[in-house]
Amino acid sequence: MSRPRIDRRKALIVGAVSAAVHARTARAQNEAKVLVIGAGISGLETALLLQEQGVDAQVIEARNRVGGRVLSLDHIPGSPEAGANTMGAGYARLRDAAARYGAAYKPNSQSYLRGLEIVIGDQLVPIKQWPDHPANVLPREFKTDAPWRYYGRFMKDHVPLPTPFDWLDPQFAHLDVSFDDWMLSQGASSELIDLCCNHKWEYNNSTHDVSALVVMMEYLWGRSVFVDNGVQSSFVFTGGNQRMPEAMASHLKRDIHFGREVVSMMSTKTGAEARCADGTVYRAERIVCSIPFPVLRRIHVDPAFTGAQRAAIWSIPRQMVTQVHLVPKAKFWDDDGYNPGMGIAHGPVSLLMPTWGGDDPNDVTSLMALMLGNKAERADQMEESDVKAMVLASIEKIRPAAKGKLEVAGYKSWYRDPFSSGDWTNLGPGQVTRFAEKMGAPHHRIHICGDATGLAARGMEAAMESAERAAVEVLAAL
Ligand SMILES: Cc1cc2nc3c(=O)[nH]c(=O)nc-3n(C[C@H](O)[C@H](O)[C@H](O)COP(=O)(O)OP(=O)(O)OC[C@H]3O[C@@H](n4cnc5c(N)ncnc54)[C@H](O)[C@@H]3O)c2cc1C
Repeated sequence: MSRPRIDRRKALIVGAVSAAVHARTARAQNEAKVLVIGAGISGLETALLLQEQGVDAQVIEARNRVGGRVLSLDHIPGSPEAGANTMGAGYARLRDAAARYGAAYKPNSQSYLRGLEIVIGDQLVPIKQWPDHPANVLPREFKTDAPWRYYGRFMKDHVPLPTPFDWLDPQFAHLDVSFDDWMLSQGASSELIDLCCNHKWEYNNSTHDVSALVVMMEYLWGRSVFVDNGVQSSFVFTGGNQRMPEAMASHLKRDIHFGREVVSMMSTKTGAEARCADGTVYRAERIVCSIPFPVLRRIHVDPAFTGAQRAAIWSIPRQMVTQVHLVPKAKFWDDDGYNPGMGIAHGPVSLLMPTWGGDDPNDVTSLMALMLGNKAERADQMEESDVKAMVLASIEKIRPAAKGKLEVAGYKSWYRDPFSSGDWTNLGPGQVTRFAEKMGAPHHRIHICGDATGLAARGMEAAMESAERAAVEVLAAL
């Protein structure tokens, strides 16, 4: 049988041509007018706004999913949220985008702090007995409040800012001190601050590393956006909050490139370039970067960031949050007669928070053991398996009825996550004045978006706000 003759020269030519075609296709895929780094809310919204204006934008993302710090744990009953929990009625941008991209949302039936008892030391203090408990150091008129509610009351009586937008007004710059210093200056005792703030605290890691102006802004802003016609009001996306970024992504003309971890960015006279850990190189006229600052500080940028922006990228604090998700095998709270959840002043966990995720709004589908600040830092120093064991042991110590009734279903450390390196980033004492209006400025061909650079809102709504600013900047520059 005669074998077909292989023409070596022809084969080489065919090979070279196909390599060139392949390289050209790959180059075309890796070139766009604008490169958007990060498929969280801010990156997706920037790309969609640019696309709406006829700009060709390519989104790349380090992880293999969209959403960034919006993450619904779909493998756990009730899809508890590991990231963003809720949006307020006044999240106008996010709600408008939800309507545009077809993401359904519904009123949030589960108040964040619903169904909690108080734990002092190892002792569970039923919330009904709290007003008369010896550990209750709240002022007499507030003794019926749970400790974690008190700082809100304190703010109501003491915040001098007329509106949330005044946090940047130079006349209030003297309040750019630690929240702790400010509370002390207003007559609160350290004992009170410790009990009410430092075990369950949502602005960085304690009252010491956040500016009082940030807490005031967020308090006033929260009071306006989480209220509708005088009634507390918030929303969640149907089927889990991650459905929102997924809906956004489905409207992009270009497929998102996943698994592309950017390790360096460069601006030249003629264009911008981003290099990824896997060797892929992307070129564009402009880059929009949504990488959170604690991650951005590890990325090589040429020319380097300078001045206040560089200082902000390097020093802005990040909140540490670590969670263990638990599925109840039986309703241990029916056995001991307490509420299922707990706000824990001492011990390794900050909160045991139920998710009421069943068809029946009283069904607890899972519980999240939440560790914040120093408690999260302690957990992050341990092996994941040891954290899970520690959490179970500490719950069972307080609630013997829970023994053997909780199954570990999930673990999430936002600090250990290399593409977040923490949760929220809130400006520290002195940083509002130094950084707030400078840190989101364009840097050569790189434009910055992301929640930390929003000035009029917080969380997901700040991410949307920052996207609008970045898109407008890019459109003006092209
Ligand atoms: C536990 C928790 C609870 C929260 N609760 C609320 C809430 O109730 N309400 C609210 O409004 N907000 C809440 N937030 C905050 C909200 O999730 C964020 O403000 C918002 O999602 C931030 O969006 P972003 O696009 O700015 O950043 P991110 O979501 O962090 O997006 C950045 C993207 O960049 C990607 N990336 C990072 N590094 C690289 C790299 N080197 N190369 C390529 N891609 C990279 C990331 O993977 C990510 O997808 C919460 C967050 C957490 C973690």
